Amino acid sequence: MIIDFSREKYSYEDFISDAEILTKQYNNIIQYVTIGESHDNRDIVMLRLGTGRKYILFCGGVHGRETINPIVLLKIVEFYANQYEDYGKAKENFSRKLRFPSSNIETQYEHMIFEKCVYELLQTYTILMIPLLNPDGYMISLYGLKAIKNPTLQNKIKRMKYNFSEWKYNGRGIDINRNFPCRSWKPKGNRDYAASENETKALIQVFHQYRISCFLDFHSRGKSIYYYRNSMPKVYNDKQLYIAKRLKNITKYELMDSENEIDYGDSGGNTVHYFSEHFYKPALTIETVDENAIFPLDYKYRTSTFEDIKLVLFELGGLLL
Ligand SMILES: [Zn+2]
Repeated sequence: MIIDFSREKYSYEDFISDAEILTKQYNNIIQYVTIGESHDNRDIVMLRLGTGRKYILFCGGVHGRETINPIVLLKIVEFYANQYEDYGKAKENFSRKLRFPSSNIETQYEHMIFEKCVYELLQTYTILMIPLLNPDGYMISLYGLKAIKNPTLQNKIKRMKYNFSEWKYNGRGIDINRNFPCRSWKPKGNRDYAASENETKALIQVFHQYRISCFLDFHSRGKSIYYYRNSMPKVYNDKQLYIAKRLKNITKYELMDSENEIDYGDSGGNTVHYFSEHFYKPALTIETVDENAIFPLDYKYRTSTFEDIKLVLFELGGLLL
């Protein structure tokens, strides 16, 4: 086990170090790619999991204070890589066990079938996992102002007079999820323009670099799934709803319908909107963690969130195959 949920504080450095160890341990199935650099010079990392020629993209940590998903998504990479590796061994053991059957042979068989499906999934798809798109915001929410090294950024953040454990912005005080150039985007001031941020540019580049079949963005605002796109035609929304329903069965999260898509007065510019409008492929937002959870989020949410969403990728693979 590499990703340790019992480690209370998971700094950016711990995150990077674990991502590197994961890549080394499963080097036949995981590739470590740096897709950009934050404004305070932290690498934005993507793990490519699988060998398939089709792509599914998962993203997390867009909002600094949502500190649970980045670690959970890293754990999901470990979980699937582990199943993939185990498949060969399990198959061998199973034929031996068939000669000397034990009472739990059925469970073992089921387990092996699951591993086989994961194996096939990762041969068909490569999962593009960006667990932490906004490393500066993550660090500010965990460690406050001292997490930022650049004095200009530090001054800017200080002037915002914020309770840092609730910090959702990046290192320049911009909300990444209101920075994507899509139909709903509106400027929030004279000097505000879309795709101004390094994190936004990094994700847009990944969107355009791969032919992505489906994109999921993980946030934490009460266990729910956002699928509806006002800016998209009915046929697109029907497909979104179909996927959302399947993911609802897996996660037991609530579906948010058309009225919940955008709050009144929202300035728009979300990751999923950009992806839908530019590629016409499914893009959903999955919100983890209890609605009334307070910031900083209790690290114990990692275990329950992992259980909630660990099979999402599996279900999605089956749906899209
Ligand atoms: Zn969020």
